[in-house]
Amino acid sequence: MRRTLQCRTLNSEVTIVGKKTLNAVPCPICNGAVEGITVAEESITEAKRVPVLIPAKCSKGHQVVLFVDKQFTVRDVEAAGQVVTEGSDESSVDKAQKWMDGF
Ligand SMILES: [Zn+2]
Repeated sequence: MRRTLQCRTLNSEVTIVGKKTLNAVPCPICNGAVEGITVAEESITEAKRVPVLIPAKCSKGHQVVLFVDKQFTVRDVEAAGQVVTEGSDESSVDKAQKWMDGF
């Protein structure tokens, strides 16, 4: 008597927490390369808002923010200081000067 072994292949998708390497973009401060930035796929695919803001550093250490779309493509890059708009003294001086220029 033979037994047929039923080999059932599990077809369920194995989810591996993958990492994606983003394309290199020029640093807005020094024009150097911001490259080799890796992100967890989930942080993009499960993001509620796109583009996703990814903090990164250029080869010279400038802090930048990458705007990444769902295709893991860097759409834009900005210096980190410009994205985080805190009521800094500089901006209020700028506003005052523009206000003065209007006269
Ligand atoms: Zn830089």
